[in-house]
Amino acid sequence: MSTFQAPKGTYDLTPPRSATFLAVREAISAPLRDSGYGYIETPGFENVELFARGVGESTDIVTKEMYTLTTKGGDQLALRPEGTASVLRAALEANLHKAGNLPVKLWYSGSYYRYERPQAGRYRHFSQVGAEAIGTEDPALDAELIILADQAYRALGLRQFRILLNSLGDKECRPVYREALQTFLRDLDLDEETRRRIEINPLRVLDDKRADVQKQLTDAPKLRDYLCDACKAYHEEVRALITAAGVVFEDDEKLVRGLDYYTRTTFEFVHDGLGSQSAVGGGGRYDGLSEMIGGPELPSVGWALGVDRTVLALEAEGVELDLPAVTSVYAVPLGDEARRVLFGVVTELRRAGIAADFAFGGRGLKGAMKSANRSGARYTLVAGERDLAEGVVQLKDMESGEQSAVPLAGAAAELAKRLG
Ligand code: AMP
Repeated sequence: MSTFQAPKGTYDLTPPRSATFLAVREAISAPLRDSGYGYIETPGFENVELFARGVGESTDIVTKEMYTLTTKGGDQLALRPEGTASVLRAALEANLHKAGNLPVKLWYSGSYYRYERPQAGRYRHFSQVGAEAIGTEDPALDAELIILADQAYRALGLRQFRILLNSLGDKECRPVYREALQTFLRDLDLDEETRRRIEINPLRVLDDKRADVQKQLTDAPKLRDYLCDACKAYHEEVRALITAAGVVFEDDEKLVRGLDYYTRTTFEFVHDGLGSQSAVGGGGRYDGLSEMIGGPELPSVGWALGVDRTVLALEAEGVELDLPAVTSVYAVPLGDEARRVLFGVVTELRRAGIAADFAFGGRGLKGAMKSANRSGARYTLVAGERDLAEGVVQLKDMESGEQSAVPLAGAAAELAKRLG
């Protein structure tokens, strides 16, 4: 392995592609910020216990995929595999739910870690932007989150995504269904691991991707037939609200998702250009999670959208984001005196809020102009000894190729004017 290779299942974000990642984070969070969601940031690691209790002891995430460590002080920690448990923990710690302002609406952006088998679109370190609305049971809140995610993807220019929607029931009706499903599953021809899953988390068996398993599941009892009246009414209201908003979705009663804490509304955004790792984002309601981690009853709903897969989806659809050039003005000094003078102009431009860069390292004109081109700058400032002697700099419009001498003293103001 080369010394310069990132660890297995990880990759670095480098320019220019990294700019797309920033733009995606920005595009996903913008609708949230405009809808009353406040920014929250939590540590990259938590006590293992939080995820074991929150995400669920029977999930793949907790049993197989967590990066755990014991500190020198003996604390058992885990790199965060997802955001919801941490955000809820932090909200409870800060008593945000007691400020008399429910729901507590929060958004976050960060790195997550899962020890998964790496493949295209599946990494051990990945990035999510998420939103959580804590402390309120209201179908309009579920609808709001689905609509905002749809808005974010559309704003990015994505079209080939689908929204899958389901209801997982609540603590009244889900256990009845669970038992009916277990009874059905126990009679099937399944391997040992899947048989164990029937006892711990039978709904996950419905999620099995293998064709021979799926074939046996055709006649499995349907959660839909077991939903209690309250859950049915709630789900119908969510469906009606997002339909009224013009958001297209598909009912998918097989959608159970990989985390134990979901109740009622669950949804997933899938993109058809991504192959097997097609989920670009997902979420749902988690009315029991607060109590699972030792808090009060706080019905909540949230989602997390994967930044990595959203970028892959953009690439799959051939969407080029309209990213403005980072640098507006590029300065090319020829000689020591010009270096001092133009460096001063660049500083002045930057202080005036104009993005400017400089040919460092005393390079020749040709190489420096190449860098100017590559920077995407609209204007280049070039100055040599003769220019300085005349009190001017050469201002080149990189779009038209036109070049003219402008007075050195007024160069920054002239650029500010031209750049509007
Ligand atoms: P989840 O927390 O499993 O519901 O995941 C939410 C979103 O995070 C998914 O839809 C993916 O876009 C993204 N995601 C989850 N796991 C990975 C991973 N191993 N690699 C890349 N993206 C991931």
